[in-house]
Amino acid sequence: MKPLIVANWKCNPITFKEVKFLFNSIKKGVRGIKNVEVVICPPFIYLPILRAFAFAKGYGGFAFGSQDCFWEERGAFTGEVSPLMLKNLGVKYVIIGHSERRKYLKETDEMISKKIQAVLRANLKPILCISDISEIKNLKFKAEFRNSEMGRKKKIGTSSRIKNLIVAYEPLFAIGTGKPCSPERAKKMRLTIKKKLNVPVLYGGSVNSQNAKDYVEKASFQGLLVGGASLKAKEFIKIVRNIS
Ligand code: PEP
Repeated sequence: MKPLIVANWKCNPITFKEVKFLFNSIKKGVRGIKNVEVVICPPFIYLPILRAFAFAKGYGGFAFGSQDCFWEERGAFTGEVSPLMLKNLGVKYVIIGHSERRKYLKETDEMISKKIQAVLRANLKPILCISDISEIKNLKFKAEFRNSEMGRKKKIGTSSRIKNLIVAYEPLFAIGTGKPCSPERAKKMRLTIKKKLNVPVLYGGSVNSQNAKDYVEKASFQGLLVGGASLKAKEFIKIVRNIS
């Protein structure tokens, strides 16, 4: 798997003009880089237009992700966006369980479990954010993970699609604080996660162009989840270039 560099734009930018400028700057800066998968996760409303920009002039070098989704496919769920809608839009990844959603939207492990299962059912790739190993232990369908890992259960629910799951280790103290976790400490957590779930693990938390390489090279993460730095085109391009 190529290293994944995931840009989490959170609730930014607020004008379409800024969105266009940011995206086109990134697009120009990462053109030609083929050994890294760059995933842009903007607010839902910008996804369709950014997909169109990405493919304009034949350049399709981005993947897109959303920052959340609902657990039902369709129906009377005002305000929600379903995994199937995202799938039909050409979205590939869905961030689930970000600490900001756990904190401000009161998302529980139960809701997160349902969302992951729905995303897997839609054949999309969930990026499950955790700040602690207990957040994996609390997942409702962990038994299915284990069984699918051992190849015992095959066509049971979402378990056969578990290979699509990605975990992002995002320690709370490092998110948006400018105080990243040391690569050594992050690596220990990566190994702990790997013991529970044999899936790709990303690091997130105050990643910048100075420290990005350490998480991939020294701590062997399979990619990065980048918040604040993904809103600064020059800095984000440097991160992608340093990993490529
Ligand atoms: C995040 O929100 O997922 C994140 C890692 O943010 P930041 O890079 O700003 O710490």
